[in-house]
Amino acid sequence: MSVETGDQGRHQEVGHKSLLQSDALYQYILETSVYPREPEAMKELRELTAKHPWNIMTSSADEGQFLNMLLKLINAKNTMEIGVYTGYSLLATALALPEDGKILAMDINRDNYELGLPIIEKAGVAHKIDFKEGPALPVLDQMIEDAKYHGTFDFIFVDADKDNYINYHKRLIDLVKVGGVIGYDNTLWNGSVVAPPDAPMRKYVRYYRDFVLELNKALAADPRIEICMLPVGDGITLCRRLS
Ligand code: SAM
Ligand code: CA
Repeated sequence: MSVETGDQGRHQEVGHKSLLQSDALYQYILETSVYPREPEAMKELRELTAKHPWNIMTSSADEGQFLNMLLKLINAKNTMEIGVYTGYSLLATALALPEDGKILAMDINRDNYELGLPIIEKAGVAHKIDFKEGPALPVLDQMIEDAKYHGTFDFIFVDADKDNYINYHKRLIDLVKVGGVIGYDNTLWNGSVVAPPDAPMRKYVRYYRDFVLELNKALAADPRIEICMLPVGDGITLCRRLS
């Protein structure tokens, strides 16, 4: 039975909020379930990345654990990652895939990838990775032109230039398998998706915010996919291709 009163569709205050009402609760998740089970290589890469000046870009440990679990649940074998940075989500992916699994990984910056690479090599999973340096869009366009790539990816993780997500989606929807999953990262964009337009925001947060808002609307309206927006990390929207 619905308990909604008037304000149709709004969540109820009591018992219906996100459980993450405090930093302490998030810390509890990390300390109870994430850090004790984090593979040694991922811990090492996380600690190395923490010393890097752009460390704000890395995926969190709980998001790494989530990706690793998701990939195993869907038996992913052929995957793609757009936006690698030092490789934390890439390593979570590589560790989840079978020995003959593949990741096409793209980033405009090879140096950051190479910072983490020795740790990925030591973990024995570097052979699964095909790293391409450069903007992802032209690579996707090339693949789109070749029918052999259509419907071939089990999982695609998009974590790069937010102003291109819609452009990526137009291509990725053909490259992912029917029943396969695309994960768009940072879809809650630092909480700014619900901030009033005049709220104080860092310049880059403000700049990309409109693109994230547009993406979220476009994904919700796309009949080719089922979606699920999860409040993990900075928000991740999973899209399962229907047809
Ligand atoms: N997935 C990474 C992780 O978990 O640590 C974080 C990726 S970081 C948020 C975004 C990355 O996207 C940066 O390393 C940046 O160089 C890359 N990037 C930006 N524009 C890009 C483009 N057009 N094509 C490919 N990569 C791009
Ligand atoms: Ca991200």
